Amino acid sequence: MNYHVGVISGDGIGPEIIAEAKKVLDRIGAVYGHTFECEEILMGGCSIDAVGVPLTEAAIAQAKASDAVLMGSIGGNTATSPWYRLEPQLRPEAGLLKLRKSLNLFANLRPAYLYEELKEACPLREDIIGDGFDMMIMRELTGGLYFGARKTEEIDGVVTAEDTLTYNENEIRRIAKRGFDIAMKRRRKVTSVDKANVLDSSRLWRKIVEEVAKEYPEVSCEHMLVDNCAMQLVKDPKQFDVILTENMFGDILSDEASMVTGSIGMLSSASLNDTKFGLYEPSGGSAPDIAGKGIANPIATILSAAMMLRYSFDLDKEADAIEAAVKQALQDNYRTIDIMPQEEEKKSLVTQVGTKEMGDLIVERIQKP
Ligand code: NAD
Repeated sequence: MNYHVGVISGDGIGPEIIAEAKKVLDRIGAVYGHTFECEEILMGGCSIDAVGVPLTEAAIAQAKASDAVLMGSIGGNTATSPWYRLEPQLRPEAGLLKLRKSLNLFANLRPAYLYEELKEACPLREDIIGDGFDMMIMRELTGGLYFGARKTEEIDGVVTAEDTLTYNENEIRRIAKRGFDIAMKRRRKVTSVDKANVLDSSRLWRKIVEEVAKEYPEVSCEHMLVDNCAMQLVKDPKQFDVILTENMFGDILSDEASMVTGSIGMLSSASLNDTKFGLYEPSGGSAPDIAGKGIANPIATILSAAMMLRYSFDLDKEADAIEAAVKQALQDNYRTIDIMPQEEEKKSLVTQVGTKEMGDLIVERIQKP
């Protein structure tokens, strides 16, 4: 098959890590007989430098015409870069927010997977880690508290702030369906997280999730209160497969889950709409402190490309092959600087490599089926 991939290299380490993901896609194409036609889309600081705005209508149209978009990262040093002396709506990040909105990306997916080889970066006790864990946090991205009406006013001489948390049944149903679809590709368990003992919006959330669950008899569905989920993530993370939750709860829980897996350079993510389209990007930023040094970890971007194959193109075997190659490179004791062991005696057991070398090592490990 031929796939048309919009590629946003962006700023900072973006172009370096995207180059490695593109090499991996080329290798997958050669091994499995696909073509990934990549078309560069300008967004972020580089777009400001070129055309004065972080995202043009033409760039949005390019993204819409793509089967999926793979992104590196955007932005610069927020203290020193001239991009941050511009009005907020002209700064690099405004481009990303506008793109997400234009593409109606309402579902955010963040896997939290603990690699055996990187266990020591996990702050949890050995007995809790066990054989490791592998979960997917699915967060609603365009509704809830962050998008509700808000105001700050003085009432009878007292300054009062108000935020509103609104969800309608359609918003809940569409994210729930995506969550159950994702669970069907995994271990078929959904933990829906809410605060149904207190919030009306959570009671509606739970009711609609239960309705959707009936359409997926192969997937087991449980409900968990958000405060309990925050505890369970550090007490017994192995119990989770897909965690399905609303915007604010997901914001907090996805950071907690990623913290227990180790380096930011390993964490991929996806934002999906109600078609097969998705925007795939590493969870980290443009890392201006290491940009241009050739030392950034490309794995999160390469794993984001694997997510793109799995969730936008239904190429599960190909996605498995990328994930297996990443695991193999780690098992063969190759590490970028951010995932090097901290203890001196363990450092001599691994080989430190740069961005390009890590990309090559992963490409070499993608085997013919
Ligand atoms: P950051 O994620 O860029 O960096 C935080 C730390 O993690 C840095 O020390 C960095 O070197 C390290 N790091 C990040 N990715 C790495 C990788 N692949 N390999 C090795 N180390 C890595 O966060 P920040 O410094 O707060 O933000 C820098 C810029 O990135 C800002 O302009 C911010 O707005 C932007 N940002 C963009 C995105 C995005 O593109 N989606 C996300 C977050 C931040």
